[in-house]
Amino acid sequence: MGDVSKLLEGKLGVVFGVANKRSIAWAIAQAWHDAGARLAFTYQGERLKANVEELVGEFGMDAPLYPCDVTRDDQLDAVFAGLQSDFGKLHMLLHAVAYAPKEALEGEFIQTSREAFRIAHDVSAYSLLALARGAAPLMTEGGSIVTLSYLGSEKVVPHYNVMGAAKASLEAVVRYLAHDLGPRKIRVNAISAGPVNTLAARGISKFAEMLRIYPQVAPMRRNIDPAELGGAGLFLASDLSSGITGEVIHVDSGYHAMGMAAAPQSVPAPST
Ligand code: NAP
Repeated sequence: MGDVSKLLEGKLGVVFGVANKRSIAWAIAQAWHDAGARLAFTYQGERLKANVEELVGEFGMDAPLYPCDVTRDDQLDAVFAGLQSDFGKLHMLLHAVAYAPKEALEGEFIQTSREAFRIAHDVSAYSLLALARGAAPLMTEGGSIVTLSYLGSEKVVPHYNVMGAAKASLEAVVRYLAHDLGPRKIRVNAISAGPVNTLAARGISKFAEMLRIYPQVAPMRRNIDPAELGGAGLFLASDLSSGITGEVIHVDSGYHAMGMAAAPQSVPAPST
């Protein structure tokens, strides 16, 4: 990538979903930071506070941190009140949060309980709407809201189960928010990421198989690098994407474009 050090100069952003250095949220936060943005972070529970504090410290960021379980309206209110007093306004929001009970991410989708379905949709889809509602009044100069989705929203990916339904909902939420917020110059988009080995991903049964299959099927014959999610996140946050809203951009080495995979033995070896 060329010099992007000024793309987000003077911009203020908040990042939801850093659990550790492997988190997709961290890859995108780094790209935003490198482009000159000032960032605030949220963390879920004291256990993750130390992780986030350490990462933020490593990068010499002087970042406000707020506790936030996205299912708690009182904590959401406190985050936006904190941003109002610490930043006064906001230009970017990253939503990289998802959860479904582990038993719902294995076995048959048809067995998903009402409670697992509710939790998955509350944490992974409704939360974007709630965050957008809190952030919009602070985005007085316009803004960019970015979330993370996965192909399981569009096509069946075995074991992804209820998260597929939740991501389909999330992508619809992106479009409806784009419609509501467009007149205020606030754009809302999703990145549909190929598999990345994170804490959340390890909760999906047979995740290692996904990492193995993607390089065999994807046009680019490889898995993605988290820094490529950083690049896409930077594009969507910056004015480079000023005409784009309500969109889902696939960053997955082209895997989503395939209708039928070649038989593994006929797949040429990846070129180096
Ligand atoms: P991650 O590092 O585990 O991040 C997931 C984050 O969601 C964690 O910080 C987690 O905190 C947080 N979270 C879960 N429930 C929450 C709640 N109630 N309130 C606040 N935060 C909550 O995993 P990741 O893979 O980077 O996930 C980020 C996003 O990318 C997710 O939306 C995921 O679906 C999406 N995505 C991931 C992949 C992949 O292959 N990794 C592919 C496509 C899309 P706790 O650890 O405390 O639960």
